[in-house]
Amino acid sequence: MAVTVVGSVALDNVETPFKKMNNILGGSASFFSLSSSFLTDVKIIGVIGDDFNQTYLDIFKDKSIDITGLKTEKGTTFHWEGRYGYDLSDPETLETDLGVFSSFKPVVPHSFKNDTLFLANIDPDIQFDVLSQMNSPKLIALDTMNFWIERKREKLIKVIEKSDIFIINESEARLLTGESSIFLAAKAIHNFGAKILILKRGAYGATMFLDDHFFIVPAYPLEDIKDPTGAGDSFAGGFLGYIDNTGDMSFENFKKALVFGNIMASFAVEDFSVDRLLAIKMDEIKDRFKKFRDMTYFGELSL
Ligand code: AMP
Repeated sequence: MAVTVVGSVALDNVETPFKKMNNILGGSASFFSLSSSFLTDVKIIGVIGDDFNQTYLDIFKDKSIDITGLKTEKGTTFHWEGRYGYDLSDPETLETDLGVFSSFKPVVPHSFKNDTLFLANIDPDIQFDVLSQMNSPKLIALDTMNFWIERKREKLIKVIEKSDIFIINESEARLLTGESSIFLAAKAIHNFGAKILILKRGAYGATMFLDDHFFIVPAYPLEDIKDPTGAGDSFAGGFLGYIDNTGDMSFENFKKALVFGNIMASFAVEDFSVDRLLAIKMDEIKDRFKKFRDMTYFGELSL
């Protein structure tokens, strides 16, 4: 039981209307792995520059995340800078500097090759390269964003073809398929090859499609959101971690996994960087899961 993730490990500058933080730990693989580590063993494949902060590496080690596949190269770490408006929805990207990721050639260690695989948001060429080195992963899930849809659409579609689960923002699904109806976008993505599609809807929650099955969850209501960065990756970490932990591939279990992912995302946004993910305890997660169930379960019709 283990999940391997390939994705960005980053130094982010994040600005909200209330605060700005520079050079904080970010990246899709960072949020994913810390979220998933509550439920399963996690291994990271990626690259950092020689400017990376040692204390950030210790965060992964403290959570027993395997970083033997996280290489250090001469050069700068992936850097993203984003700014959120008052509604704290999609950020404006001010800068994306790939740094050492622009020449990264991933090598998948032998002991990672049959794990559940999460291709987190990163260059589709790197995602494809990792995928082609795997033997028989239990499950392959994939995320991406507008940056890659706009630059590497064809390669991205090749990665979708080989994936079981595709997790993407609703607005990015429209950008990828050119469809404005989410049902038509879902059909188009099924036609690319992914069996299960999960559309992330930010503060509105998420929707999951599998053939004729359809499941929708609202987001956990929060009074105080500090920094939405990493919500999607924390969601994916909770979702895949739950599936890997339970080993149950039924649609009913996927529903619980979706709610678990939702709950992990709700924690991630309560502070900057990965700080809230580092502070929570399993009991708090279970408690929020239960509150969410009470909030959304309305029993049988009494007519
Ligand atoms: P999320 O808010 O879950 O979509 O992910 C936010 C994280 O994605 C940030 O910490 C960024 O470092 C990282 N990120 C932003 N743009 C990219 C990109 N083009 N490729 C890979 N990772 C990115």
